[in-house]
Amino acid sequence: MNLILGVKSMYLSLMAQETELDFSSLEACIRALYAARWPEGFRCPYCEHSHAYEINTRKLPLYQCSLCERQTSLIAGTVMEGSHTDLRKWMQTMQLVAHASPGISALQLSQIIGVTYKTAWLMLHKLRAAIDSFNGREEPLQGHVQINSAFYGKPYGSVIHEHPQRQPLLIGASIDMLGVPTRIQIMHIPKHHMNGTTVRGSGVQAFIRIHVDPVALRVECNTAHFSSRRFRSLLAVAAQASQWMNLTFHGIGPKYLQRYLEEYIYRYNMTAKQLPVWSNLIRLCASSPRTTYSALTGNRSGSSSKAYYRDNLAS
Ligand SMILES: [Zn+2]
Repeated sequence: MNLILGVKSMYLSLMAQETELDFSSLEACIRALYAARWPEGFRCPYCEHSHAYEINTRKLPLYQCSLCERQTSLIAGTVMEGSHTDLRKWMQTMQLVAHASPGISALQLSQIIGVTYKTAWLMLHKLRAAIDSFNGREEPLQGHVQINSAFYGKPYGSVIHEHPQRQPLLIGASIDMLGVPTRIQIMHIPKHHMNGTTVRGSGVQAFIRIHVDPVALRVECNTAHFSSRRFRSLLAVAAQASQWMNLTFHGIGPKYLQRYLEEYIYRYNMTAKQLPVWSNLIRLCASSPRTTYSALTGNRSGSSSKAYYRDNLAS
C-alpha cells in the first residue's frame, strides 16, 4: 500500500495537454480520473481526511482513508459507478463527446471503442445527464439578453418542406457589444405553451424565469417568425444545433430532444468561455453521481432532462 500524496498540479497539466492522454494506458487513465476527481489531492468522502492508502488488488484502485479507514473506489460517486465498461473506454468517450465534430452517435461510438450499441447509448446518455445537471446549476443569462423562437428540424431556408420531427424551441443568449452570443440556453417548448406555431407568452415567461437573471440589464424577445426584428445570430445558433442533431444522429425525437440540446449548449458555452471542454467534462463526470437506466429513459419521475424545467413549464 502506498500513501497517496496530493496532485495539485496534475489537473492543471491535464488541462494544458488535454488531448495527449494515452487511451491505451489504464494507468494514465486512472491518474487522469484521480486528478479530475481530487484536484487538490485525496479527500475522504466520509471524513474529509486528506490522506489515503492505495490498494491495488483490483483492476481499479481502492483508496483507504488513513484516518477513518473506510474504502473508496476510484469510480464510486461518479458517472461511471456500477459500470463494467473499461475506464479507458469511458475516458475516450468523454474525449469524443468533448471534441468530435460534428459529434458522436451511439452507433459510431460502439464501433470506435468496441462495445454494444446499447452500452454506447447508455454511456452517452449518462454523460448527457451529467451535462444536463451541470447546465442547470450554471448562472442564469445576464447583461444584455436576447430571446428568439426557433424550430428544431426545419430545413432552414425552406418554408415548404417541414421536418417530420419539427419541434418548437426558444433560444436565449447573453449578447456582447458586437451582438455575438457569448452564452446560450435553448429550451424545447411543450405544446401547451404554443398557439399554433407561435410560442405563447406563458412559454416566454417560463424561459425567462428559469434562464434569465432577474436583474439582467436588458431583455429583448421576438417570437414572430418573419419579423424584421428577429435575432439572426440566435437563429443561426439554433440552426447549427439542428444541423448537428440531424447530421450526427439522423434526427432526434421529442422525448430526448432537450438532452441533446443540453450537450450542444454545454459545448457552445464552454467553447465561448475558452474553457478546455474535455478536462472539464472529465471533472464533471468525476463529480456527478451515476444515473440509472430507468432514469435515463424517463421511466422515473424527475429523471428526464431538466426535471425542474418540466415542473416550471407545467406551472
Ligand atoms: Zn475517512
